[in-house]
Amino acid sequence: MALLFRSDPARGAVFRDAFAEALPELPFHIGAAPEPEAVEYIVTWTVPERLAETHPRLRLIFSVGAGVDQFDLAAVPAGVGVVRMLEPGIPEQMREYVTMAVLALHRDLPGYLVQQRAGLWQSGRNRPAAERRIGVMGLGQLGAAVLGALAPFGFPLAGWSRSPRQIPGVDCYTDLPAFLARTDILVCLLPLTAETEGLMDAGFFAMLPAGASLVHAGRGRQLDHGALLAALDGGRLSGAVLDVTEPEPLPAGHPFRSHPQILLTPHIACQTRAADGARHVVAGVMADRAGAPVPGLIDRARGY
Ligand code: NDP
Repeated sequence: MALLFRSDPARGAVFRDAFAEALPELPFHIGAAPEPEAVEYIVTWTVPERLAETHPRLRLIFSVGAGVDQFDLAAVPAGVGVVRMLEPGIPEQMREYVTMAVLALHRDLPGYLVQQRAGLWQSGRNRPAAERRIGVMGLGQLGAAVLGALAPFGFPLAGWSRSPRQIPGVDCYTDLPAFLARTDILVCLLPLTAETEGLMDAGFFAMLPAGASLVHAGRGRQLDHGALLAALDGGRLSGAVLDVTEPEPLPAGHPFRSHPQILLTPHIACQTRAADGARHVVAGVMADRAGAPVPGLIDRARGY
């Protein structure tokens, strides 16, 4: 048995130290394994080529990031488990990012930034939080964490998920049109799957109340860029905070880079902290060896 770490070698050194302490008997390789046929665990961002042939004893493939959408699951043999990154820094950072973004939109920050640059000084009306309805798409670990952070401000809160959920203080929907119709600031925290790819298109934006705004921290391919621009320029939407795009980075001159109603960040909502990430992978390997449930194991049929 062995573990192969195929990502940033500096982070690999942190993982190696964690494994040396917790599982010293497990051979740990960074970059490449001398005997790939002995590798049972891979920590990586991408699926190695010819995985089934080269790593016949593979049991688990761990993502170094929160999503698993970058993996071509068809290239991962059916018996191999796929594990997403779970570490406490991810929900902590997402709470911060989405709170910042929602408050920026709620307090009209994009408009005041335009004003500042134009040398203007003009105050608008501060809308009470009780009149600003927030809707979070995705009620998993991140959606739930973000809703908890937003609760003290007094916004009416709702969420949308595939299966029915119950969260105290949150109106939970599975009906998308009904959820969108009551949402003034929409937050996307969905995993990228066949069902969520391209979800936010012109028809989708037409279901939001006029003047609604968007915080997108899911995955770039969930958003139709042209539809967002048309919704902003046509006045249906009033603003957007985007952390994810397709591609990343956006090409120079892409309209999102300079649009006055868009605040754009370079996919920094969350960054995996190496020591915490290493602890998660150690726990996963130990659980697997003990025959226990592996934290973060995804449902491959659902894609998340
Ligand atoms: P979880 O798997 O914990 O939760 C996913 C949620 O999305 C669940 O509530 C699920 O519904 C819902 N969902 C999935 N598919 C659909 C669908 N077709 N229709 C309606 N609801 C759906 O994921 P996390 O909360 O941990 O993370 C969510 C995503 O956030 C990640 O996959 C990643 O893409 C993104 N992310 C972005 C980061 C950034 O830096 N910008 C950092 C970290 C994550 P149900 O409850 O019914 O299963």
